[in-house]
Amino acid sequence: MRERAADYVIHDASFRSLILGPHVAVEQLWSEGRWVEGPVWFGDAGHLLWSDIPNNRILRWTESGGVTIFRQPSNFANGHTRDLQGRLISCEHGTRRVTRTEWDGTVTVLADRYDGKSLNSPNDVVVAQDGAVWFTDPDYGIMTDYEGYAAPREQAGCYLFRLDPESGTLRIAADDFAKPNGLAFSPDGSKLYVADTGRSHDPEGPGHIRVFDVGEGGRLSGGQVFAAPDRGLADGFRCDIHGNIWTSAGDGVHCFAPDGACLGRILVPEQVSNCCFGGARRNRLFITATTGLYAVFLNTRGAGAH
Ligand code: MG
Repeated sequence: MRERAADYVIHDASFRSLILGPHVAVEQLWSEGRWVEGPVWFGDAGHLLWSDIPNNRILRWTESGGVTIFRQPSNFANGHTRDLQGRLISCEHGTRRVTRTEWDGTVTVLADRYDGKSLNSPNDVVVAQDGAVWFTDPDYGIMTDYEGYAAPREQAGCYLFRLDPESGTLRIAADDFAKPNGLAFSPDGSKLYVADTGRSHDPEGPGHIRVFDVGEGGRLSGGQVFAAPDRGLADGFRCDIHGNIWTSAGDGVHCFAPDGACLGRILVPEQVSNCCFGGARRNRLFITATTGLYAVFLNTRGAGAH
């Protein structure tokens, strides 16, 4: 395991209370991926899972055992989360679906079509407090053969979807994105943050995080721009217990307060894709960044169970 000196950039004095200080290093835990994404923490098992998309595998890290392969082939899986029962929920580019891994290891398809047509390539997923599964469906995974299988898009756009926990019905929750990507709920579930990374393939496209108010039955309102990293894109992010958003960016992880102010950043030597809180105290931020897995202890904790 290699370590490097932690690099923190403080934009607001309050950021000092969220980090542990310059003596707490950003640790590189692993460095053998091609494009890694979708970290999810299993405290009960003491392991982290994440995707190495071009290598078509899901990896597993434990403090004592290092890195092993959890699933290969993974159908070019990307984002993961856990449902209210703690089961693994995964977005798969290769099969253009969202799945749940049951306790016995079998895989259940939750969604693979909308309006009779294949999804594009589900990218990232969260589960609401009512059990609804929310996921984004940009077309990154069908644009080339690198992170899935190149194929024509069947949906008219790239949507944010909600899978109803009672009926199992899939509906479009928002349709005004170029490429919806990472998403996370505020600690009380009343707000949903969703990234639009359209700028990845269009210099004039959006590169920001929007915020929605979540109403009865998961109806969304609002949707204004919340924040935008000044470097790179907000591919994936998580909320801490204070409602701060810790998001991927081109130079590391940026921390935005609930009012949208950038409080500070953690510099990471590779382009960050996503992050999640983990560890027994949920105060360790695991960071997927291009080829590497990194982690840093913080003086805050992740919101929610996962
Ligand atoms: Mg993503």
